[in-house]
Amino acid sequence: MPESIPSDLIALRDRIHAFVEGELRPLEADLDIDALVPAEVRQIVRERSKELGLFGMTQPKSVGGTEAGPLAMVVARETLAAGNSTLTRFIFGPGPGMLARADGDLRARYLDPVLRGELSGAFAFTEPSGPGAPDRPTWAKRDGDDFIVTGKKAFVTGGATADFYQVIVNVDEDASGPGGTAVLLIDRDAPGVSIERAFQSMEGGGHVELRFDGARISKANLLGKVGEGMPRAMGNINEERIEVAASACGMAMWTVEHLTRHITGGHRAGGRLSDREGVRLRYSDLRIETYVARAMLYRTARLLESGDDAINEAAATKVFCTEVLGRVVDGAVQLVGGQALIVGHPFERLYRRARSMRLTGGASDILRLNVARGIIEFNAGRL
Ligand SMILES: Cc1cc2nc3c(=O)[nH]c(=O)nc-3n(C[C@H](O)[C@H](O)[C@H](O)COP(=O)(O)OP(=O)(O)OC[C@H]3O[C@@H](n4cnc5c(N)ncnc54)[C@H](O)[C@@H]3O)c2cc1C
Repeated sequence: MPESIPSDLIALRDRIHAFVEGELRPLEADLDIDALVPAEVRQIVRERSKELGLFGMTQPKSVGGTEAGPLAMVVARETLAAGNSTLTRFIFGPGPGMLARADGDLRARYLDPVLRGELSGAFAFTEPSGPGAPDRPTWAKRDGDDFIVTGKKAFVTGGATADFYQVIVNVDEDASGPGGTAVLLIDRDAPGVSIERAFQSMEGGGHVELRFDGARISKANLLGKVGEGMPRAMGNINEERIEVAASACGMAMWTVEHLTRHITGGHRAGGRLSDREGVRLRYSDLRIETYVARAMLYRTARLLESGDDAINEAAATKVFCTEVLGRVVDGAVQLVGGQALIVGHPFERLYRRARSMRLTGGASDILRLNVARGIIEFNAGRL
């Protein structure tokens, strides 16, 4: 852990570490890691997480949460990822995400039930591309008190079970109002909405492709205003990017620790792998890269904590930490050898998870373009 973090965050880290090692590890010992985690186990994790003050960290104070800041969330997410437990995904309560600024009727119908865990939403942003893709991104036209929505969304995580979708649409300009991007909250079972295809990605996530065939959606389901779609979609993007970076750093830490145990154990050729200078060189690179990634992660977390504009730094940190994780896991697989490729080996799993992190929340090269644009066009971004 980078030094100079306040004592309450050191206590938080130690509490999480003790929870993972002392309680989650025994709980998951008999679980089939690929099967659905039984409801009673999820319940135990949630209850303990509440008792330990972790559950509410992602939730606003208005609903009884503790709304932790960026630095505390980085400490928590990195420590959890460094524990490499399958149960850590049940620790935090549902956060508001894009619904954070929902008020009035939308707050009552969507935000509050989400925070209570009664409803779940999924984010429908990415458009299909390639052969067969529609010739325009998902669009909406006004019709009286409704929008008529047409198009497809290619990659909606959790879309098969979500109760509603937060859909980015392009509204056509007409005599009754301006055009632009907008966020519509669309119920899964609304007429004209269908799941075209359900699929899994290599890290194990479940997703759907959505289709809108002239779905009639009330204007009451517009989040914010027409024209605010992209800013709303990107509203909590810093948070998401730094979270992914923190998880990447934690996963890299776990990988390096696990690798250390492997290379310092016996090798069939006699002695230990760690006795060979060539292995030490490769191994040291993984440690050096992880060290640099963590230094970057904590600098960006402190900038965000101070309230400074750090949108470019968060994008850069997401790119760097996830790419370091890719190199660390790949290097660890190489040093462990063939057994690391056996399906079910921890490095085989981490390899698949690490790969997807360079695309989720913004593809690396797109974020690189954002970093350059930030400085060249907006004079924002630090070295
Ligand atoms: C596990 C997982 C979960 C996801 N969950 C969701 C979700 O819940 N909701 C959702 O909406 N989406 C989701 N996505 C989709 C994700 O957001 C997109 O995959 C990602 O934004 C990249 O978009 P794309 O796949 O359309 O690739 P494209 O945008 O087509 O880009 C593909 C590649 O082309 C290159 N490229 C593209 N444009 C440029 C450019 N201008 N300059 C240089 N190079 C370029 C880059 O190398 C890029 O990696 C998820 C993806 C994954 C892997």
